[in-house]
Amino acid sequence: MPDDFMMTKEDKDGDLPSHDQASGFYAKYEPKEVLGKGVSSTVRRCVEKVSGKDFAVKIIDISGEKGEADLVEQTKKETTMEINILLMCKDHPNIIALHDTYETPTFIFLVFELCKKGELFDYLTEVVTLSEKRTRLIMRQLIEAVEFIHCKNIVHRDLKPENILLDDNLNIKLSDFGFATHVAPGEELTDLCGTPAYLAPEVLAVSMYENVPGYGKEVDMWACGVIMYTLLVGAPPFWHRKQMYMIRSIMQGSYRFGSPEWDDVSVLAKDLISNFLKVDPRQRLTAKEALAHPFFRREAVIKKKFDAKRKFRVGILSVRFFLRLRHYYLHPPPISVETVTHNPYVVKNIRKVIDGCAFRIYGHWVKKGDNQNRAALFEHLLKVDWKSEDKS
Ligand code: ADP
Ligand code: MG
Repeated sequence: MPDDFMMTKEDKDGDLPSHDQASGFYAKYEPKEVLGKGVSSTVRRCVEKVSGKDFAVKIIDISGEKGEADLVEQTKKETTMEINILLMCKDHPNIIALHDTYETPTFIFLVFELCKKGELFDYLTEVVTLSEKRTRLIMRQLIEAVEFIHCKNIVHRDLKPENILLDDNLNIKLSDFGFATHVAPGEELTDLCGTPAYLAPEVLAVSMYENVPGYGKEVDMWACGVIMYTLLVGAPPFWHRKQMYMIRSIMQGSYRFGSPEWDDVSVLAKDLISNFLKVDPRQRLTAKEALAHPFFRREAVIKKKFDAKRKFRVGILSVRFFLRLRHYYLHPPPISVETVTHNPYVVKNIRKVIDGCAFRIYGHWVKKGDNQNRAALFEHLLKVDWKSEDKS
């Protein structure tokens, strides 16, 4: 490792560290475009020179050039912990694999397997909501990964769609173990960390009141409930423009399976979410219990009692529906000026354009907004609640 590491202007601005600073890394890898950015890290795609294989490198700034020596020490300690935990968890197919590490006095480089499809957050922003089938696949993989780390007495503490990455086949890879820590059985944690909309009530309680118990692995299960809710309807269960109101609803566990967005969601899915979002952590499902929930038994949803009469009726209805649909496509009704001016949303092509524009504008804005909160997409709906709450 060279002794003299000079910080350049570009490095301060989050661009690449110079070659002198990280010769070990540069000897083996060719850094490419930025994939994501965190508070003190930048993630880039990189290519291993020998194999030509793609990886992702998380470059953590520990230069302390702003004179915050304490902060640097803390970042170093946290990164060492992150590396140790990643090494302990490396053999699970749904946990991101750490491939290589390099450390210089100014930067730490963590080389990971590359998840080409990026964050589940972005995927959800693109598709808006997921089907129950896809939700089941993703949640099963997520909970299996969580069970694996919980068995090793590790708690993640920052489960959210931004920290769940997708590989080429849309399998999940749990990532960002920056807040993860060891928790021995019976041990209680007390530090406030995580992302506001995903925090469990006991994490908030311990930071707000004295003489309350600390928290443990159950916080990850609460976050699983928030994630599953969000996957199915596209908006999180607890979110408010005013953080105070959001904290209040989390502490009370007050959320709704509102209509119409929840009308078509199965009772089993709602039951599983309700068992994750229990305010009392002792009543919350563990990862092992969650995997045994009937929501994950495919047959439970697909296997219905065979009813010949019902099957025949459904068959007839399907054929009639198909014929009507065909007729509609062959002879579409004319679009009147009246419809376009008063209810343009009923016209499929116009609807597509409106939706496309809305998500182009809001998806972009939400991603850059405070806490990268997806719920801001639905702010115009939430505003109404907020006003009525203000009055009460
Ligand atoms: P931070 O602790 O700063 O949040 P993360 O580990 O979550 O850092 O990485 C930040 C972002 O970089 C992620 O949300 C994701 O968009 C991207 N990223 C991280 N690791 C990978 C990876 N292995 N493959 C693809 N993208 C990644
Ligand atoms: Mg992250």
